[in-house]
Amino acid sequence: MENQVGRSNCRRQRVVLFPLPFQGHINPMLQLANILYSEGFSITIIHTNFNSIYTSNYPQFTFRAVLDNDSKDINLAKLSSKGVGDLLSGIMLLNQCGEESLRQELDQMLMASKQQGEPIVCLVTDALWYFTQSVADSLKLSRMVLRTSSLFCVIVYASIPVLEDQGYFNQVNSVFDEENIDLDLKNIIAPNEENNFKKPDGGESVRNLEDRVPEIPVLKVKDISKMRIKGQKDPTGKLLANMLKQTKASSGIIWNSFKELEETELQKIHKDFPVPSFLIGPFHKYFPASLSSLMEPDRSFMSWLDHQAPNSVLYISFGSAAQLHKQDFLEVVNGLANSKQPFLWVMRPGFVKGSEWMELLTNGFLDLVGERGHIVKWAPQQEVLAHQAAGAFWTHNGWNSTLESICEGVPMICSPFWGDQPLDARYVSDILKVGVYLENGWEREEIESAIRKVMVGEESEDIRERARYLKEKVNVSLMKGGSSYESLVSLVGYISSL
Ligand code: UDP
Repeated sequence: MENQVGRSNCRRQRVVLFPLPFQGHINPMLQLANILYSEGFSITIIHTNFNSIYTSNYPQFTFRAVLDNDSKDINLAKLSSKGVGDLLSGIMLLNQCGEESLRQELDQMLMASKQQGEPIVCLVTDALWYFTQSVADSLKLSRMVLRTSSLFCVIVYASIPVLEDQGYFNQVNSVFDEENIDLDLKNIIAPNEENNFKKPDGGESVRNLEDRVPEIPVLKVKDISKMRIKGQKDPTGKLLANMLKQTKASSGIIWNSFKELEETELQKIHKDFPVPSFLIGPFHKYFPASLSSLMEPDRSFMSWLDHQAPNSVLYISFGSAAQLHKQDFLEVVNGLANSKQPFLWVMRPGFVKGSEWMELLTNGFLDLVGERGHIVKWAPQQEVLAHQAAGAFWTHNGWNSTLESICEGVPMICSPFWGDQPLDARYVSDILKVGVYLENGWEREEIESAIRKVMVGEESEDIRERARYLKEKVNVSLMKGGSSYESLVSLVGYISSL
């Protein structure tokens, strides 16, 4: 490990970690577990049976399934049902009714660990498992939170009450309903005069989707709409409010980010969250590859990639959960074909709504795939981004993907779907300026032009240069004396002292 801070190797303290069962949450939690293990802590991972981890990849850890152990349990049924909306409601349900079951499990584990002379010193849970704070309190166990998003995202989430007061969510109610919730904003409403939104005072003043948000000037009004939160009373709004409350009540926050990336945001977090914050990321740089994939990565294209020119291949992946409507998918296919750039496309089965996998692709496009591209179901993403042939990453801007791209100095094309993704996309394009935001949705001409702009256009060298500069900053932060290195030293000392 590049930046191991060198704690004594004698394991006398155990840390229990509890990831949320989604790919983008499992990866950073398992990486954090590896980091803490390297620093001398023994590790237990507690996990749901739903989206269970491949435990055999981690012989050094102890695993224990919790919460959804009964196959007839309504909670398990909820978690296993398809669709992100349902998955979210499953998570909410477990937050509401998991307390007693988890308390019993942890109580047993605490007793056993004491008998073994290796006490559990800390519980680290995903921030979205907010119910674990009261469980930990009742057992007099310290709970730290892993927040798997950017600091910027948490600042925006913490501003939801203020934004709601200002009427920003009124428009979300009118723009999104359950039927068209997955359609892109542009397909539902065009940002023209007619569709402007009245401010809450009901006065003459109107707000356009393209306007900046004075309360958070980085954002445009449409970014708030794209988060798909309807306000504090919306189930997602409630989940986030509980998450923030119990994060403030925790013993500390561990972030998968680094100081130089979000310096201004860190000051605000210090002010608004009165618990220690540790920015020790990017986690995936501590270990070469992720073993925590829920799907088997396809490596069959690697020799093709090895033969491509430097910076010439567009890597396309929209993460583990996003889904696209058929008409948008066809825009993607045509834009990609017309761009004439080589590509590697991760197309998950079920990515296109109502479709199994590749059946919507025409023979013409499949010929093109033979000539200048590859399509796979799942890729070893970090390896692909680190490859010299990777020229740009067309991404949904999940935080892990965003960080992985930044770490390798790969410019982005940003096509966010929901949640924190539109926030990360805005940050990447307008603050870091290492990406082009396809902010008007899925439209073939715009797609073709964005691909060209990032891969071969006049501006591409400037974007690439800024991306390289950020990559350097990551490397420095991980070296002895760097911000992430020093933050890890503090974190290890802090956990040991709990
Ligand atoms: N990933 C991968 N192979 C793929 C696509 C994604 O290994 O083909 C990994 C990616 O490296 C990242 C995670 O899956 O670590 C996705 O997390 P992210 O936060 O970017 O998005 P989410 O899936 O949560 O929407």
